[in-house]
Amino acid sequence: MTTRASLQGKAPNADQRGALAALLDGDIAFDYPLAARTSMRVGGPASVYAEVKQVGRLVAVLSFCASERIPWTVIGLGSNLLVPDEGFPGVVVRLAGDFVRITIEETRIRAGGAVPIVSLCRDAANAGLAGAEALVGIPGTVGGAVRMNAGTDVEIGDLIDRVEVVIAGEKAQTFTRPEFAYRRSTLDTRAVVCAAELELTRGDPKELKEELRRRIDRRRATQPIELPNSGSIFRNPPGDYAARLIEAAGCKGWREGGAVVSEKHANFIVNAGGATCADVLALIERVRAHVLESQGVSLELEVHLL
Ligand SMILES: Cc1cc2nc3c(=O)[nH]c(=O)nc-3n(C[C@H](O)[C@H](O)[C@H](O)COP(=O)(O)OP(=O)(O)OC[C@H]3O[C@@H](n4cnc5c(N)ncnc54)[C@H](O)[C@@H]3O)c2cc1C
Repeated sequence: MTTRASLQGKAPNADQRGALAALLDGDIAFDYPLAARTSMRVGGPASVYAEVKQVGRLVAVLSFCASERIPWTVIGLGSNLLVPDEGFPGVVVRLAGDFVRITIEETRIRAGGAVPIVSLCRDAANAGLAGAEALVGIPGTVGGAVRMNAGTDVEIGDLIDRVEVVIAGEKAQTFTRPEFAYRRSTLDTRAVVCAAELELTRGDPKELKEELRRRIDRRRATQPIELPNSGSIFRNPPGDYAARLIEAAGCKGWREGGAVVSEKHANFIVNAGGATCADVLALIERVRAHVLESQGVSLELEVHLL
């Protein structure tokens, strides 16, 4: 499972909770249920849930967590995230405010880390900027997409010129053309993506908007978006597709509690009602073991575990 370097330490005590509340000027909640903040709708509470609206506050909160050895993480729209049933014993940061801004200059679009990918694609199309259409159905944020190098036939990393980040315990920094690989970025695991600048090309707004519609319709037809899910569970192995292997292994329809391998798309697990994170993880392990045994391929997880 993917984990972050910032997860070591202890849950914040009452004094530390008070200090965090002061740093965040009240944009904070304690023992906050996270399930509704994920697209799979499973998982327990965050000890601290912090909505951070400015870079200065982000630097302050992450520095505090680093110096006090409090575990922390950042989430976007939770569309590639499984939260354990026991929750997260530290600070969960969610970007808002300044991080939801989009600005466009010539063929360059700068989007804050909390901007939904769909907004980025729509604003680009309206401005007659081409290149980002392939990202339109990805239900996450710019920050989450940069972390994952999310994409389809085009990955966000293909379009990125600069990424602005805050690394815990350090100041804000900008990286020009960082390297990306399939569903991976080379950014420090302690980096929070504050904004990304994409370089696009000129296109016709009407054609671009039609292309967005076509791509969304195609997704509706091929993905089980009517039920909670977290997108592709496994990465595609080189030269093959995880969905093909899972289907060939006969795992479609397999169930653990409320978690079911989708009949519509075998690389999706859906929450068919009342699933726990433990159900999802047990199903993942069963599918992985069976694909290895019957297809001889060891699948790697794409979904992140908090
Ligand atoms: C129906 C469906 C379809 C999907 N289709 C695709 C697809 O076609 N292609 C694809 O690649 N993915 C797809 N996904 C997966 C998911 O939408 C993407 O990976 C997305 O980029 C995750 O963004 P998020 O904001 O939801 O991140 P989250 O799920 O909230 O977090 C994912 C990871 O990113 C980290 N993260 C979040 N925000 C930041 C930030 N600001 N800075 C640093 N790290 C951050 C988190 O700590 C976590 O490790 C799909 C998911 C669903 C539910």
